[in-house]
Amino acid sequence: MNESGLIARSERFLESIRDRRISEDDLRSPEALLNLYIYLRGNLEELQDLKEAMELRGFKYPFRSISGYSTHQSPEIAEDIHDIKRHAQYFRMKASVKKNLLDRVNSAISSHRIALGNIEEHVFLKCQECSRTLRLGEVELHDPSGDVECPCGSDNLKVRFNDRALCRPEIIPHLPLSGDYMVKMSELSLWARKALKKIMRLLKNEKKGAVRSATLVIRVLEDGRWIRRRITLDSEDNDYERMLRQRYGPNVRVELIQFHRKKSSIVNDRYTRTALALAYAGLSQKIIDEIRDAVYRENLRDYDAVERYREIVFDARTYSPDLRISEDELSEVRLQRMHRLIHEAGLGDENGNLNPLLKEDLETMEELKREIFRDVPVNLILWDVAFYYLGTSLDRRSKYSGPFPNLRPVLDRTQVRTFDEFSEDALELLRGYWNCGMVYIENLGDVLMRKFEIEEKMKGLHMKPDPLAFGAAVLHMEAGIDAETCAELFHVNVEDVVEEERSIENLGKPSTDRAKMFLNLIKGD
Ligand SMILES: [Zn+2]
Repeated sequence: MNESGLIARSERFLESIRDRRISEDDLRSPEALLNLYIYLRGNLEELQDLKEAMELRGFKYPFRSISGYSTHQSPEIAEDIHDIKRHAQYFRMKASVKKNLLDRVNSAISSHRIALGNIEEHVFLKCQECSRTLRLGEVELHDPSGDVECPCGSDNLKVRFNDRALCRPEIIPHLPLSGDYMVKMSELSLWARKALKKIMRLLKNEKKGAVRSATLVIRVLEDGRWIRRRITLDSEDNDYERMLRQRYGPNVRVELIQFHRKKSSIVNDRYTRTALALAYAGLSQKIIDEIRDAVYRENLRDYDAVERYREIVFDARTYSPDLRISEDELSEVRLQRMHRLIHEAGLGDENGNLNPLLKEDLETMEELKREIFRDVPVNLILWDVAFYYLGTSLDRRSKYSGPFPNLRPVLDRTQVRTFDEFSEDALELLRGYWNCGMVYIENLGDVLMRKFEIEEKMKGLHMKPDPLAFGAAVLHMEAGIDAETCAELFHVNVEDVVEEERSIENLGKPSTDRAKMFLNLIKGD
């Protein structure tokens, strides 16, 4: 396929995704979700092929081939120079088409991964012959009808909801699946756009990364002389001290250690961060649209007056008398009209000064939007990510992408502080008007840090806890929330939570204080 063929094919394909709108009906039954899954998985394959073809053709850096153009001018007549300029302009235009298209394909790929990860959590397959359960991500879907075979040989598989899933498939309709993230951003209201920015900032938190390597300056005794050496070690060698003694003998002295860290974000991909932020902001906007009237009615003293005022403002702002007047005069006419209508409606005096009560209500309303509505999507995503961390094993997070692709398997001390942004006010609002199934956790960051510490201790111990009960146990131990609530949040039995707590308490601590100190040093405390 030639270049313009590739461009046309990609554009057509993205349009076809845009036109097949995902609705709530696609999420209602396990069967519908399976169909959606098969459709999205097919899309993802095609998108990845397109991306590969584009990158092979240099769509990633399309401006490179042009950059030489302007300097490459031979002393010729003016007409030719004009031609060359026009030519360069044409190529620049084509280059930006390529770059934008690849950009959309990348965004679409990230969105598809998020959607697939959510569905893989939300439904599973159950074999009717051997009653084995299979994850969608683990089976091969050979043909579009989605016929799958169980390892036992039976093809009698039923798709079921996973009642203990940690995911939010409701975000799928709000993902920029066709790479239309710019369009989706423009559809958000002001507060939702602020939420979007906040989420993107939070997920990007990259202040400290894991240790990639360390440079050491050491002194060693060689042939009776102290020699200074500079060496570099991988992060694989966790116990630097022991390693140095092994290599250079007991007399080695460390003069300087410099750690090199890799900067890595909580969600380590720009497109995934954008898609997640958009999906959570979009879903929240839908939720707020449904509860907004009730919220205003309860929090404002006279919501009817506020509504009347807003109608008047809209009326005045769009008022166009049938006169040929200047822009300034028109503004004046509109302002006068607004003052008159406000006065007539009893909302203020003839000079447009609003009643104090109305003024206060308007301020409250702004605050609700600016702070509380904005934090609704922030809360939802922080909660979901935190629960994903709590309810999955380190092994699973390392090997499998899940509903949060490009999520770091473990966070450091600085990154967990992101979860302190969990807002109590926004949570109260949600709890009051919408069945969100959330509780306030004051020290969510500490809870996560504790989970990571326990996981670190468990490395190599061959423990196989129930990940959900384990998460509930950590939450119970660290957050001071009663065991019943914790069990409920993770859909497990209280007995299992108690059981996991016991095994956590029995975990061995680092053998010596020195070892502990060293471990902390490496971790970058
Ligand atoms: Zn089977």
